[in-house]
Amino acid sequence: MDYIYLDHASTTKLDGRVLEKMLPYLKENYGNANSVHGIGRNAVKGLDEARGIVADILNADFNEIYFTSGGTEGDNFALNGFTKKRGEKNKIVISSIEHSAMLKTASELKGVEVVKIKPNSLGLVNPNDYLESIDENTYLVSLMMANNEVGSIEPIKEVCYNAHLKGANFFTDAVQAMGAMEIDVKDLGVDMLSFSAHKFNGPKGVGAVYIKNGAQIGGIITGGHQEREKRGGTSNVAGAIGLAYALKYNRETLKKDSEYITNLRNYFIDKVLSLNGNFKLNGDRENRLPNNANILFKGINGERLLYKLDIMGVCASLGAACSAGSIDPSHVLTEMGLTSIDAKSSIRFTFGKENTYEEVDKVISIIKNLIEE
Ligand code: PLP
Repeated sequence: MDYIYLDHASTTKLDGRVLEKMLPYLKENYGNANSVHGIGRNAVKGLDEARGIVADILNADFNEIYFTSGGTEGDNFALNGFTKKRGEKNKIVISSIEHSAMLKTASELKGVEVVKIKPNSLGLVNPNDYLESIDENTYLVSLMMANNEVGSIEPIKEVCYNAHLKGANFFTDAVQAMGAMEIDVKDLGVDMLSFSAHKFNGPKGVGAVYIKNGAQIGGIITGGHQEREKRGGTSNVAGAIGLAYALKYNRETLKKDSEYITNLRNYFIDKVLSLNGNFKLNGDRENRLPNNANILFKGINGERLLYKLDIMGVCASLGAACSAGSIDPSHVLTEMGLTSIDAKSSIRFTFGKENTYEEVDKVISIIKNLIEE
């Protein structure tokens, strides 16, 4: 079957050029980057090259980039790492629409008060709400750069500023944002930021975090001395090279791709909303990631619609891929004020540069037929 893939927030296809860059590190240069012989040194070269590329793109220093296994590990790293070095402080302030990798991990921190800031009905948090909750007891403040379900782009610069006013560290989960916008960590002023290669045509199971030099954060995986003692374990050199080149290629065409994806996504939104006056876009039309269209099909069972779309070869999602299969409504949509019935009637479509206008027309006609049924 020919699938129409509209689930790019869940994952993306590996770029063929990225695979070509990775292959030598799986074949000839397969060494352990900790070995002192020639094949090991070749692996170190690859790891250094990858770290350098990522550091340049993010405007970070070379030794401020740490490779991880992906976004989930990055979120765990921030929460557990800053908690290790929190001293007497025992409070964190995060948003209530974070990914489960943040929310669940935060809920398991021992002896820590977790304050959650709610968004408005468009999925945007107010920096002043953060300011009111952060105090001298707060050691970590966190807000995702862009939301994975509704694509809202959050005011992280302001919230980071507010965190620093009170002496707290600031972390942002940039997993969804990294492939969609230029990011300059010095300009943002964040202490830590995480991202994951598979969201921008890189390989799965590899990510990275930026940690500002001097930030008080402990390591989370104990073992060898890798990643400057913060993350033990034999380095995934091919993965790191894959991540770095995926980011490099992404940045080369980012402006053009973003424009194309935004126009295609808007074309879809206009068409789908015109099918029925009760359909609605969840979240803000302007302030959202280019790829995201989260549609409330009011009065329609979202799970059944998704299932029927799947039968017709259309790949979309009820929300976060990690929570697919759970019968709970999306926590992001309910935090934005949707009833649980409306949340369960909502479907996330996320577009990519490979999608075409013909595909959108086909999906619209499939949806039209399904709802008429
Ligand atoms: N954070 C956000 C905002 C995400 O969207 C995701 C994945 O969808 C993650 C974290 C987890 O990333 P990974 O799949 O690389 O573990």
